[in-house]
Amino acid sequence: MMRQYNFKALSKADVNQLILRNTDSGNAIRESVLNIIEEVKTHGDDALKNFAQKFDQVDLKQLYIGKEALTKLANEIPQQVKHAITTAFQNIKKFHESQTSSKQVIETSIGVNCWRESRAIERVGLYIPGGSAVLPSTFLMLGVPAKIAGCKEIVVCSPPQKNGSVNGYIAFVAQLLGIEKIYLAGGAQAVAAMAYGTASIPKVDKIFGPGNQFVTMAKTIVQSTTNTAIDMPAGPSEVLVIADETANPVYVAADLLAQAEHGADSQAVLVSTSASLIEKSLEEVSKQLAVLPRKEVAAKALTNSYTVLVDDLEVAMDFSNEYAPEHLILATDNWQLITDKITNAGSVFLGNLTPESAGDYASGTNHTLPTSAYARSYSGVSLDSFVKKITFQHISESGIKNLGPTVEILAEIEGLHAHKNAVTVRLENI
Ligand code: NAD
Repeated sequence: MMRQYNFKALSKADVNQLILRNTDSGNAIRESVLNIIEEVKTHGDDALKNFAQKFDQVDLKQLYIGKEALTKLANEIPQQVKHAITTAFQNIKKFHESQTSSKQVIETSIGVNCWRESRAIERVGLYIPGGSAVLPSTFLMLGVPAKIAGCKEIVVCSPPQKNGSVNGYIAFVAQLLGIEKIYLAGGAQAVAAMAYGTASIPKVDKIFGPGNQFVTMAKTIVQSTTNTAIDMPAGPSEVLVIADETANPVYVAADLLAQAEHGADSQAVLVSTSASLIEKSLEEVSKQLAVLPRKEVAAKALTNSYTVLVDDLEVAMDFSNEYAPEHLILATDNWQLITDKITNAGSVFLGNLTPESAGDYASGTNHTLPTSAYARSYSGVSLDSFVKKITFQHISESGIKNLGPTVEILAEIEGLHAHKNAVTVRLENI
């Protein structure tokens, strides 16, 4: 069950320790991921097949599922599920389409025009987790903005299921997105394949997607050892709930458990101004946990989770900003009073009727978010993640006459005479 703390009794060092998560003490995960990457670099597809056997217990003849098989799988899912996936797809599309920006030409001085234009990243790799739970929702969250951005090649990897295939929900999302192939590779080996390329899996320019600690470590390593970029380190999921006496303990418990069931390494934190709310929420957690199909996973995650009693919502918010949660829920009727004080969070859920699950699936916001305190410096996935912003400028005759002397002086003081000359030769010629 969750540990309980009183903020007043915690030293600064205690708080620092509490907000630490997913540290790879002893570098065990790093070592094993480095080995996996080396194997994929050296043995390509054979390594992928061996790892599928070792980690996913599947004997793969072929490393992908093609269009025909995907269509067949997609056709088998119930109409009601198709409808729900389509609704989520439309909301996510609507929200991400609103993120397109129009070209804005700025005349910085007379005759000098500057602007930025977006260009899609050409080849992107999407990792769809599928170890402990298959996540078609993640496929929507990554595939929709990739399509809106206009990425030319979208490579999708997901761990093979026990039958050596993907499930029908993933296949249906592929159909909605117009994606015709899914590669059957999971974990660090999938990331390595997309970073280096194998005979079957094309190398990409940027890798997206959440995953367990092996996936996240592999992304972190390939980002510094290859010219493949990554969206962000999006590892084991976490939620921080700030609740006061206006919160409903039944809802709070449900939200904590929704996080805990993700994986044994997930973390759920409840920060509350009310001792009675904490007590009632913990009672509810026990009740609701008992009937959850994934209770074993959730129970493990809860041993890694805790509550903190604080004096007021300001202290709660300070703690949350230090923690920098992937998901932040303000379970209070007074959410408008503290929303401006949020400085670090991946995605925020306001008020007692806004469950994180809504954003996980269908409200429209993206669920691929920075974890492990990376919300201090990273944003979640958005349309921006799939484009580069290229700057342009055009300088007219009056522009170069105007700006030229400034550039000449600055080049001169830096001792870069060729830079100065590139202006001088033009000024002399007009
Ligand atoms: P996964 O697809 O990330 O990992 C499964 C793969 O891990 C397996 O196919 C296998 O190849 C590899 N693996 C398993 N054991 C291994 C070992 N001992 N050594 C090396 N590789 C091994 O699926 P998962 O494990 O279910 O994890 C999904 C994760 O994604 C969860 O931690 C969840 O919290 C997280 N998540 C995060 C976000 C986010 O936005 N941050 C969103 C959704 C999910």
